Amino acid sequence: MSARIIDGKAVSADLRGKVTDAVHRLRRDRGLVPGIAVVLVGENPASEVYVRNKSKAVAEAGMHAFDRKLPAATSEADLLALIAALNSDEAVNGILVQLPLPKQIDPQKVIAAIDPAKDVDGFHPLNVGRLASGLPGLVPCTPLGCLLLAKTVHSSLAGMEAVVVGRSNIVGKPVAQLLLADNATVTICHSKTRDLPAVCKRADLLIAAIGKPEFVRGDWIKPGATVIDVGINRVSEGGKSRIVGDVALAEASTIAGAITPVPGGVGPMTIACLLLNTLSAACAQKDLPPPQI
Ligand code: NAP
Repeated sequence: MSARIIDGKAVSADLRGKVTDAVHRLRRDRGLVPGIAVVLVGENPASEVYVRNKSKAVAEAGMHAFDRKLPAATSEADLLALIAALNSDEAVNGILVQLPLPKQIDPQKVIAAIDPAKDVDGFHPLNVGRLASGLPGLVPCTPLGCLLLAKTVHSSLAGMEAVVVGRSNIVGKPVAQLLLADNATVTICHSKTRDLPAVCKRADLLIAAIGKPEFVRGDWIKPGATVIDVGINRVSEGGKSRIVGDVALAEASTIAGAITPVPGGVGPMTIACLLLNTLSAACAQKDLPPPQI
């Protein structure tokens, strides 16, 4: 058996196209152009690439990008003052502070300072609580992307056995909440889980968010299962480096029914979902109905 490859590039391009159309309608009918402020502190090369890609995608979707680049020595007080200014700026509908932050700045303080209505990363404790309570709110982008990819294979997740490997605040926990809200039966695994291969093998839907290259092997996967691989790991072989996921793709593809590749799976969905969140935030702030995407 050879798994269907879930094409994250195509799904994200489709979503970005729909967001772009909705932004165009919003501008035409209401004179509203959603705007997002992406704040980068310091010179982390990976973060700089992410921020550049985000800003490009924001502009391509017809939204305003208000990038703020601050020096690595920025104090916590100065960053909090910038967040306060962005919170009260009507042109800014979404605020994203790129993590990690330099060590003199407490990321939890910064996240908590963002207006929850503009928290397009979905990391503010109020949005975390809303997701856990089944209330509408802004949902973290990568987990939302995972859900949308799973839904390209299964129109309903009701009753499915879903296993999430990883319990981070940015991926594992929120993805588990989204699957639960969609009526899957959810198990969350972590580094202390006993007999992880056996737990994974129960999964109709397996989400791997671990951060270890090709950690999940083919014989951990239930035949026909859907596998969503969140991992982004750089490995070196023979002097060359490449990106692999948390799942051994070649092995897993012979057992799974459908699987996301790395690269080209979950990765492209994250930015598409950020655009969707910014559009949703802009509509909510203007008391407009949520976008029909
Ligand atoms: P993280 O904060 O390091 O969390 C990793 C999780 O994996 C933890 O809950 C940890 O368990 C668990 N884990 C580690 N070793 C394990 C083991 N041997 N057995 C079972 N569980 C184990 O990582 P993250 O931020 O969630 O990211 C996970 C991966 O997704 C990374 O590769 C990251 O680069 C990638 N990622 C991709 C995107 C995207 O856009 N595609 C976005 C975000 C992250 P404990 O809690 O017990 O330590």
